[in-house]
Amino acid sequence: MGFGKAFKCKTCGERFNAMTGIGMLFPTVYKDTVKDIRSGKYGEDWKTFFEEHPDGVVNCENELLICEECGVPKNEMNLSLYLPKEGVEDLPKLPFGDDLHEKFTLYKKYPYTCDKCGGACNIVAASKIKRAACPKCGGVMEEDHESVILWD
Ligand SMILES: [Zn+2]
Ligand SMILES: [Zn+2]
Repeated sequence: MGFGKAFKCKTCGERFNAMTGIGMLFPTVYKDTVKDIRSGKYGEDWKTFFEEHPDGVVNCENELLICEECGVPKNEMNLSLYLPKEGVEDLPKLPFGDDLHEKFTLYKKYPYTCDKCGGACNIVAASKIKRAACPKCGGVMEEDHESVILWD
């Protein structure tokens, strides 16, 4: 189940909805993402990882990313690569949430870049973010309590 949080720019009214977590279509999303990685869509390193580590997995949860440089937010798939921890037997076929973090070790973090300025982006917890920079006018976007977002 996903988590949503709405932001609205105080200057120009631009809206941004942070959508994190996984949706109902997660099994399909996961399969398609692995296929994309194997075809080289996310670069050579990601492609090679699945060739060299058949037991490796990818984090397909949706994250809220904030640019370190300009503060503009975006939604993007996590895409970090993980390897199973030694000795873990009941490995899930579709790893996410606690299963992913308890049964797998982070192998490589995906290098996210900002669509607006090209700066580096960091994953942040949507629940902890109160404001972000407006991608349109550079103003301040604040949490919009009047919008309720439900998604699956
Ligand atoms: Zn704005
Ligand atoms: Zn930026």
